[in-house]
Amino acid sequence: MNLVTLLLVLSFPPTGESIPRTVDIAIIGAGPQALTLVTHVLQKKRSWGDRLGVFDRAGTWMAQWKQQFAALEIPHLRSPAVHHPDPNPYALRAFAANRPSELFPPYDLPGTELFQEFCQDVIERWGLGDGVIQANITDLEPIEIEGHDRFRLHIQGHPPSLARRVILASGGGPPRLPDWVAEIPSSYPPERLQHSSQIDLRIRHLGGEEILIVGSGLTSGHLALGAVRRGARVTLMARRQFYEKLFDADPGWLGPKYLKGFQAEPDWGRRWQMIQEARNGGSVTPKVLFKLRRLEREGKVQFLENCQITRATWNQGLWDVDCNQPQGSLPRFHRLWLATGTDFDIRKHPLLHQVQWRYPVETVGGLPQLDDHLRWGTSQLFLMGPGTALQVGPVARNIYGGKLASQRIVPALTKSSLGRVA
Ligand SMILES: Cc1cc2nc3c(=O)[nH]c(=O)nc-3n(C[C@H](O)[C@H](O)[C@H](O)COP(=O)(O)OP(=O)(O)OC[C@H]3O[C@@H](n4cnc5c(N)ncnc54)[C@H](O)[C@@H]3O)c2cc1C
Repeated sequence: MNLVTLLLVLSFPPTGESIPRTVDIAIIGAGPQALTLVTHVLQKKRSWGDRLGVFDRAGTWMAQWKQQFAALEIPHLRSPAVHHPDPNPYALRAFAANRPSELFPPYDLPGTELFQEFCQDVIERWGLGDGVIQANITDLEPIEIEGHDRFRLHIQGHPPSLARRVILASGGGPPRLPDWVAEIPSSYPPERLQHSSQIDLRIRHLGGEEILIVGSGLTSGHLALGAVRRGARVTLMARRQFYEKLFDADPGWLGPKYLKGFQAEPDWGRRWQMIQEARNGGSVTPKVLFKLRRLEREGKVQFLENCQITRATWNQGLWDVDCNQPQGSLPRFHRLWLATGTDFDIRKHPLLHQVQWRYPVETVGGLPQLDDHLRWGTSQLFLMGPGTALQVGPVARNIYGGKLASQRIVPALTKSSLGRVA
């Protein structure tokens, strides 16, 4: 090594093998939403591949998605075949031309394997095969360099990267845990009380066990079916009644039918209310509820509706559970599974503490008031996913929400007239 090279190395210590020192557009997360954004950027600017840096702690596309579908043994998506990360809405149908049995009724819901292979095809067609930088981002620090606003991405175990613009596509919030969990009086083996995001049905042997599953959404349904397949008896408990719904939110929320009125609503609080009403808590698809009711008749599943746990006690290897409604014959349980969803509150987002301090934005019910391009205040940070719901509507967290978000973000990235806030 000559002296000049040595001086360069000393003044610029090497970053992690594939972690760039600077990047124009940093995308945090490599799930379906980030993939959607990247294909939409490249559709507009084919040569921009080098400008994009996609960071994910897993180091590959769709890792979290694949893990959650495999762990819950989900046979097919809940959303129809036109919801996917490619800009061409018919691309998945064309991909599935010779695989009609993997599009499930009604509305051609793609099978899990089909969807994953299609996404791999999207990744390859758009030249994104080795495009994910393995990096756990620990903080996002707004800084100013020679009069220009930049973001420093702090990376676990590596020197930071510097980005001109950042898209946060890191998915949902932390698990939502009912209050009684913090009040359990004694210690218990952690695998006997788990949130759905920690459960992997593939490694469970449940023969002869009694399992209580809390929550009335589709995840409860998948867990119950998986547990019964493994020989368990399941009690499904919800603070409301279980009800069936084909999709998370009415398809009117995908287009102008409902979005027009929603986006014309000037009161952010009212918009928040509309989102809650549209999602209306968790629901189960008609097909899954049908299967659960059949298992109920066979004595393998019981439903406890309008019921909430008030106390759980770990007692000699089993759970004793008290509820707010008198229950005649509640068994003692081997496991408690919480399919209680996630808590999304942007004010608590681990990467945004410094951003919120430097660029304060108003929030409603934990959701930020972003501009039309999903930009955070006057910064060059853009959000995707649940945090965009006040603009994108109730499907913000779903695959289609990624498309709606991309349609707003991409013009701000690619048109210089929209790149700066007024
Ligand atoms: C079981 C289940 C089934 C679903 N089924 C459907 C469906 O059929 N149709 C539908 O439209 N929606 C569905 N959804 C909702 C939604 O589409 C998915 O949750 C989807 O994965 C969201 O995509 P995403 O890219 O926003 O987030 P994710 O898929 O969660 O991806 C986010 C990525 O960000 C990475 N990340 C997070 N924080 C950091 C960090 N600090 N540093 C580096 N990387 C980070 C994670 O590793 C992850 O890979 C489902 C959700 C669940 C839980």
